Amino acid sequence: MIVVGLTGGIGAGKSTVSAQLAAKGAAIVDADQIARDLQAPGAPLLDTMAERFGDHIIDDDGALDRAAVAKIVFSDEDALKDLNGIVHPAMQAEIQEQIDAHQDTDRVVVLDFPLLGENPRKGLAATIVVDIPHELAVERAVERGMDEADVRNRINSQITREQRREVATHVIDNSGDLEALTRQVDEVWSELSAIAAGETAADPA
Ligand code: ADP
Repeated sequence: MIVVGLTGGIGAGKSTVSAQLAAKGAAIVDADQIARDLQAPGAPLLDTMAERFGDHIIDDDGALDRAAVAKIVFSDEDALKDLNGIVHPAMQAEIQEQIDAHQDTDRVVVLDFPLLGENPRKGLAATIVVDIPHELAVERAVERGMDEADVRNRINSQITREQRREVATHVIDNSGDLEALTRQVDEVWSELSAIAAGETAADPA
């Protein structure tokens, strides 16, 4: 197997690329999904969180009251540190377990990580960054049903496009149509799947 990273700012098209890669046979390790699963109703991590922050962070249905947690950590640095100390190791362990499941195969394992630019990961065979101008990201995210002000806030709190591109070995420009996106995904996939299969990458010339 080879392990590659996939990231992009909100609305860039990361999920679309991830789905296309999955359809081609990539094994996707989805950080957002893992975070949701680890904090789903009844998950053991919730007990650990409740021990630290109080039972009121779990609602009557056994679900995590995210707003209650956000309220606690918003103004309390130690609480935020503790929260990260609970969630991060569990995330890392689950990520590692999902990667290890493909050990000794010829799979391309894609780490679909929204914050890969913020937290670069060592040992990746490649890092794919899906890149688009901010205005287009806003337009597409709003079309998808997100609140415009919320999207703009998130973009402003993320690293810049330039910073994200710095971690890239492969930049996918998603300012065109879906066909143009698919063509680029096809190209990246041919290269990566060849490497995973143990072949030498095609001569770029
Ligand atoms: P991200 O996961 O990076 O936030 P998505 O993959 O969900 O972004 O894409 C945001 C929205 O834009 C989705 O509704 C998606 O279907 C749409 N989209 C993605 N790429 C294109 C494209 N090249 N042309 C038109 N719409 C696109």
